[in-house]
Parts: sequence; C-alpha cells; structure tokens
Amino acid sequence: MAKERKQNTCCFCGKSKPNMFSGMGDALICSDCIEAGHQLVLTLPKEAKHTAGDLDFDSLPTPQKIKEFLDQYVIGQEEAKRFLSVAVYNHYKRLLQEITNDDVEIEKSNILLVGYTGTGKTLLARTIAKMLKVPFAITDATSLTQAGYVGEDVENILVRLLQDANYDVKKAERGIVFIDEIDKISRKSENMSITRDVSGEGVQQALLKMLEGSIVNVPPQGGRKHPDQEFIHVNTHNILFICGGAFEGIERTIAQRLHTQVIGFTAQQETEHLDKNNLLQYIAPQDLKAYGLIPEIIGRLPILTHLDPLDHDALRSILTQPKNALTKQYQKLLAMDNVTLTFEDDALDYVVDKALEYKLGARGLRGLMEAIMTDIMFELPSDRKKKEPQAFTITKAYAQEKLERADLFRLQNAV
Ligand code: ADP
Repeated sequence: MAKERKQNTCCFCGKSKPNMFSGMGDALICSDCIEAGHQLVLTLPKEAKHTAGDLDFDSLPTPQKIKEFLDQYVIGQEEAKRFLSVAVYNHYKRLLQEITNDDVEIEKSNILLVGYTGTGKTLLARTIAKMLKVPFAITDATSLTQAGYVGEDVENILVRLLQDANYDVKKAERGIVFIDEIDKISRKSENMSITRDVSGEGVQQALLKMLEGSIVNVPPQGGRKHPDQEFIHVNTHNILFICGGAFEGIERTIAQRLHTQVIGFTAQQETEHLDKNNLLQYIAPQDLKAYGLIPEIIGRLPILTHLDPLDHDALRSILTQPKNALTKQYQKLLAMDNVTLTFEDDALDYVVDKALEYKLGARGLRGLMEAIMTDIMFELPSDRKKKEPQAFTITKAYAQEKLERADLFRLQNAV
C-alpha cells in the first residue's frame, strides 16, 4: 500500500513548513524550494538564438521608446534624439545577430554629435546610459594625448568601460563609449605655431584604431602603461562610439561651402532659404575635414548630426519640463520642509532673459536659480517646527531683487 503523504509536507524537500503553495492534485511546494528553484533558473543559459547576455530581442526598447525616454529629460534636439535612438537600437540588434551565424554582417555606426557647448550633448549621452542594458562610459578627449606625452593614453577610455562592466571583458566589449570634446583633438592648421602636435593628429591616429575595431591592451587600473604590467585585452570591434564636439567657428566653413556650392542663377534664392542662425544643421563631413579631423576618423563616424542652439522657449522649457527640471527640484526640497513653492511665469521668463543676456546658456540656469533660491532655502526651514504648511511664491520682483545683487559676470566664468 502506498504510503500516505503527511499533510503540509513539501513534495520537493519533504519538510513540513508553515508556508505552502498548492499545485495540481495534492502537490505542495514550500517557499524555500520556490526560492531555490528561482535561483537555479537564473543561472541557466538563455536560449542562444534571441539573446545575448542580458539582452533579448523581445525586451529591446524600440527607437520610438528610446526617444520617448530621452524626451523626458532632454528638451528639443529632435534630430539628434532620432539618430541616437536608431543607432542605439541598431547596436543592440547588431549584438543579437552576432550569434545568429548568417552571412550578413551589420556594420557598426558610430555617431558624431555637433553642437554648441551646453546644448545637451552630454545630457543625451547620460540619459541614454540610464536606460541601457550594456556598459557605458563617458570620457573627455581633451585629457588624451599621444602615447609618450604627459596626459592620458587613449586606452584609458576603455578602463572606464571595463569598470562599468565590473571587469567582465565580454560585457565591456559590447558597451557604448561617449567621447566628449572630440573637436579639441583636431589637427592644428599650418599657420599655428605648434612645433609638436601633442594633442592633435597623433591622438586621432590612436583613436582611429579603437574606432575601427582592434585588440587594445588596457592597463587594468588606468594610468600610464608600464612595460612589465599585465594588460587586459579588449576587442573594440563591437563597441559603439558616440562622439560630441562644439567645433567652435565651424559655421564659417559651412557658410563658405554653402556659398560656393550654390552656383548659377538660383543661387540667391537658395542661399536666402538658409537658416543663418543655425548653420550647424547643414554640417557635412568635408567641414569636419577642413576643421582638422583626419578623413579616416570622419569615415569611422558615419552618422553625423547636430544639436540646435537653445532659444528662449527651449531654455524656459528646460526650467520646468524635464523630469528633474530645476523648478521641480526646488519644489521637492522645500516640500520636505512643508513649504509649497510656486514660480510665477514672468519670474521664469525673467530668469531666461538674464541667461540669454549674459550668454549663460542652459548650464547657467542653475547658477541663476541658486542666486534666487538661496535666501529662501536658508530662512524657511527654521520655521519647520511650526508644523503648519507654508506657501511661498517666486515673483518677478523677488527674482529681480535677488539677481540684481548677484554677480552675474562671475556666473559667466563658471559656465
Ligand atoms: P554639452 O555637453 O552640449 O556641452 P550638457 O549636456 O553638459 O552640454 O548641458 C549642460 C546642462 O544644461 C545639462 O546638465 C542640463 O541641465 C542643461 N541642458 C542643456 N541642454 C539641455 C536640453 N536640451 N534639455 C534639457 N536640459 C539641457
């Protein structure tokens, strides 16, 4: 006769436990066995065809979803957002096709973002990083020098990526790197009295190898390379590079090219249609070459897009709309002291006017707001013990009074 199973015993471990889950018939499982099973499932290799590490095709965010995410944090910059969204999506797809073993190889499309300083290039990169499922590193090209000179070796770019991947080399090899201020390593023009081009072409050549895809010897802790050091070998073939730069003064080159390009009797009509306030939107690879990027680097950054300058409306939106907009941050800070903070519309317009007048850009908005908010943030919390809720409104007159006392020229130096 079959032995009758004791009530409340787990069918897996045979122990009696208080928390049981019942299944078909009289099958029971305890919470410990569920947990152990869950851990086991996590360690199983995923189905090879549609997954690569943490990635799987079904859960990939589509370009539209990536852009919607960017929209929550970055105002405007529609073109750059669309290019970035597609590039990141394709990067994922490229990683997934790696293991499907057919002959069509999707090539990597590194990106170059051109836009004035403070228009959101780094913000775009940082925001993309928030939603990524691959390692991500931001680095600044200005710190890089050709091997042998004072400064950082180009390989150090990959140290940060490795750190973000917890030194999992395979993971790092699928990551994304943002290199800011790429314009600062442009080849100096002949008329500049530079005897040794320490930060120019040599760095570009070193960078080129990395962009093209090569095995790079990375010193694990960063810093300068030593001959007797152990290196980590990182293959950059699958790493997506996003570069950003202001390319100050490149508008002149763009304007010249546009004027010489439009010839014949429609010339005047065509040049009239040009938006002279935003010439960066017409940027083309030959302008970058004239600026001093070597053609091989330009060729390795096939997706070229621009960021728009920020006008009054854009700056105004930056103050209030992004998920972590400055006004929302101050409201949250003061809400913790039981203070409801409101900003009058014309106070915010006044702040934007000052940012434009002193050419502070989006980066300067924080300094202006701090100058307005510091007194309130100093004084209001001392009344917290009163417990009853308070309200405070920032009017234009109040903002004006605070900013007239502030040294806005000092802010200019800070941005
Ligand atoms: P860049 O890299 O182009 O020099 P950043 O991305 O560092 O400029 O921008 C500086 C700051 O200005 C950001 O941290 C952000 O607060 C604000 N900012 C700039 N552009 C935008 C934008 N388009 N939308 C929202 N905030 C922006």
